[in-house]
Amino acid sequence: MKKYYIVLLLLFVLVLNIYGEKLIILHTNDHHGRPFGFKENEIMVGGLPARATIINQIREENKNVILLDCGDINDGLFESNLFNAAPDFLGYNYLKYDAMTLGNHEFYKSLQNLKDQQIEAKFPFLCANILNKDGSYLAEPYLIIEMNGLKIGIIGLTTTTIEYSAPIAVTNELQIIDEVKVAQQIVDLIKDKVDYIIALTHLGINKDDNYGSLRLARLVDNIDLVIDGHSHTYLEKPIFVTNEKTKKEVPVVQANCWGTHIGKAEFDISDKGLTFLNWEPISIVSTEKDDKVLHDLLSPYLKEATQLMGEIIGKSDKYYGTETVRMKENELASLCVQAMLWYYEKEKPDFSVTNGGGVRHFLNKGDVKKEDIYNVFPFDNYTVLLELRGADIINIVEKSINTKVNTGGYLHFSNNIKITLNANKSIEQIKLNNKVIEANKTYRILTNSYLANGGDSYTEFLNGKKLSISQKFDREIVVDYIKTKLNGKIKIQITPQIIKASK
Ligand SMILES: [Zn+2]
Repeated sequence: MKKYYIVLLLLFVLVLNIYGEKLIILHTNDHHGRPFGFKENEIMVGGLPARATIINQIREENKNVILLDCGDINDGLFESNLFNAAPDFLGYNYLKYDAMTLGNHEFYKSLQNLKDQQIEAKFPFLCANILNKDGSYLAEPYLIIEMNGLKIGIIGLTTTTIEYSAPIAVTNELQIIDEVKVAQQIVDLIKDKVDYIIALTHLGINKDDNYGSLRLARLVDNIDLVIDGHSHTYLEKPIFVTNEKTKKEVPVVQANCWGTHIGKAEFDISDKGLTFLNWEPISIVSTEKDDKVLHDLLSPYLKEATQLMGEIIGKSDKYYGTETVRMKENELASLCVQAMLWYYEKEKPDFSVTNGGGVRHFLNKGDVKKEDIYNVFPFDNYTVLLELRGADIINIVEKSINTKVNTGGYLHFSNNIKITLNANKSIEQIKLNNKVIEANKTYRILTNSYLANGGDSYTEFLNGKKLSISQKFDREIVVDYIKTKLNGKIKIQITPQIIKASK
């Protein structure tokens, strides 16, 4: 009798062990090179050391914790870019991430860079729908995590928009397949082997459920949860999408961006598997709670970056302002477009163009530090080389002159472009190196990634064929231009770009 009792008790303890427990899934997305806390509205937010404190606290309270990331770890602030995201991967390894889905920004440097980072990371990269040209997997298509007798399938899916946003040299080496098709194949392959299926995606939450992660949840059956990134969406609660086939409500979640939040999904473990209980975003606002070990591990990077930002890269002959950058020719905008031409010299571009809204700060007379240039051009824009038809160029110039004056969309062209307006302010002709731009001819132009993606409603840029995207932000190109081409001597002269016809 006693023996029977003990066996029963043991069984009970065993069952208790597995069931009646909780599983916590923590997730981040679009970290974008922000290993350290940064100021947002005067409050310090984010940072991997603060993230570590919160994650470790949750791990202390819960035995079953899975930590995931939805990609775009690359391309952010100077302190990360300078080291090619090394401090970020160091932090992610320290935090013991279980997996990360590839974001579009993981593809922007080179495939070799992606492969190097794959080795650097002590966790798998997931991506089922972007493959090597020969059809072999570039990253793991899915992962099965076994925890407490449960099997959780995690499928990685990446936005196919890299087809036109990534450098041609990269996309030439890839097979890019629609995520819905691939996801259904993998779900069908693993659904009988696992208790729960998570799509870990870098697709984006779009208002329209014909796109991104909402489309995935709507069309692929038997996905239990979609954890997403890419659109930098802050949610207070999950979005529930009704699946077309199963009529099941599928939660879709995303945790803002830049490490300001961690998403926390809670599940009940029972003999039926996992039951989704709730989800919430946890904000990371504290710096006093930094994890000391990680802080010390990362601080040499911050020190070096701060020193480099303070580097004097040149001397400015006078004050250059931005007061009229949205109305007429401007020296700082000119500095930017000339730097673009210089950077891409070998590609023989015809001209370059940037938007006035991208020039945000004046430059003082005297010593110029790297950080001054970063203040003038604060945005994470790359320089894009594209082929564009003359007809599109004419429309772009017309828009800039007629509707975009005094907005951020007012355009600045390199010095070899001259625009002649007639008496009623319409365009008489646009000349490139003294030759009239022809509607049917194709030109090689340089612009920033914001405009190239149709920013400021310049959808004409989307008609272009993207040939190449720079490996660094345009502000970094400006810094190189000042140091190398100008020998540190900043003396910018502009010639009138818009000329009124004499008759
Ligand atoms: Zn993205």
